[in-house]
Amino acid sequence: MIHGSAVRVESANWQNILANSVTSPAELLHRLQLESSLLPAALAAADSFPLRVPEPYLNRMRSGDIHDPLLRQVLPIGEELTEQPGYVLDPLGEQHTNARPGIIHKYHGRLLLVVSSGCAVNCRYCFRRHFPYDDNNLSTSEWDDALDYIRSDTSISEVIYSGGDPLAANDRRLAWLTRAIAAIPHVRRLRVHTRLPIVIPQRITPELIDALCGTRLPVTMVWHCNHAAELDALTGDAAARLRQAGVILLNQAVLLRGVNDSVEAQQALGEALGDAGILPYYLHLLDRVRGASHFMVPDDEARELVGALLTCMPGYLVPRLVREVAGEPGKVPVSVELMHDASSKPNQA
Ligand SMILES: *Cc1c(COP(=O)(O)O)cnc(C)c1O
Ligand code: SF4
Repeated sequence: MIHGSAVRVESANWQNILANSVTSPAELLHRLQLESSLLPAALAAADSFPLRVPEPYLNRMRSGDIHDPLLRQVLPIGEELTEQPGYVLDPLGEQHTNARPGIIHKYHGRLLLVVSSGCAVNCRYCFRRHFPYDDNNLSTSEWDDALDYIRSDTSISEVIYSGGDPLAANDRRLAWLTRAIAAIPHVRRLRVHTRLPIVIPQRITPELIDALCGTRLPVTMVWHCNHAAELDALTGDAAARLRQAGVILLNQAVLLRGVNDSVEAQQALGEALGDAGILPYYLHLLDRVRGASHFMVPDDEARELVGALLTCMPGYLVPRLVREVAGEPGKVPVSVELMHDASSKPNQA
């Protein structure tokens, strides 16, 4: 089972790939030829938030490299267990902003629908790592309530499929939901926030594209990619198919210590996204969620980093630096200062 599964990935369907994800820390370490001395901490940390990594994502990691930026996002480690002051279970207070089950309506004009409580990958830094998803698995009558809520509030012009990962839902559910939303006249746009095309690019099937794009609603898909090494030929194909169907592709990333906290890493990410026809949208400062403090990059460093990007890349490939603040009416922009570095000017002697 361990060996050979990698070669079948390209032809397998996404649900099989999802079901065969690696969830055992011992197997992950073995697959990547990492020392078994890492196992006790991995098991301890996986106890409160399990390991989960699908094969196509695992395939992009370098063997034998504990610092691999993809591995770092999924491997449970001992640092998660040291409590840090200020790092809490629900940093955004979202558990109390559910207008109804399955709905998060915090921002004017836009409404998040928790379409699927599951994720295809468990990201160690996730601000929802302690979120009680099971409370948000909607029954049929709750779906009707959620749709009634959208119908009754004419200020909602955009519905955002979120989760968990909304693309963990099956195509029939997504097609039904999208048709129901498109039948509400004041909804003008559909947006999908997802990490699934990054970890299982095979998720972008013709059936999915039909389900999302088969109505009058223009569709924007915001991918969640944190590192250039997360993009390969398969994700490139998936992006190309979506763009061909008219989907606008954006990306949001989280600024993560040891993953993408250098100018080089961010520049490579922006360039790789640009190559795939995906525009960087947001770069989020980490939310202070318990167990993720080792990923924190301080504000000043983040400002300088994005300031440096603005001097070496096209502006449209530089993401907006933002943070989420509980109770604010939108994502809060974080100011950035241009880095003056004369030596980088091309026409100087
Ligand atoms: C991020 C987010 C949105 C969308 O915000 P944009 O700035 O439009 O991308 C909507 N609702 C919630 C709760 C969010 O966290
Ligand atoms: S896919 Fe998104 S919601 Fe799911 S664990 Fe990763 S960051 Fe969190």
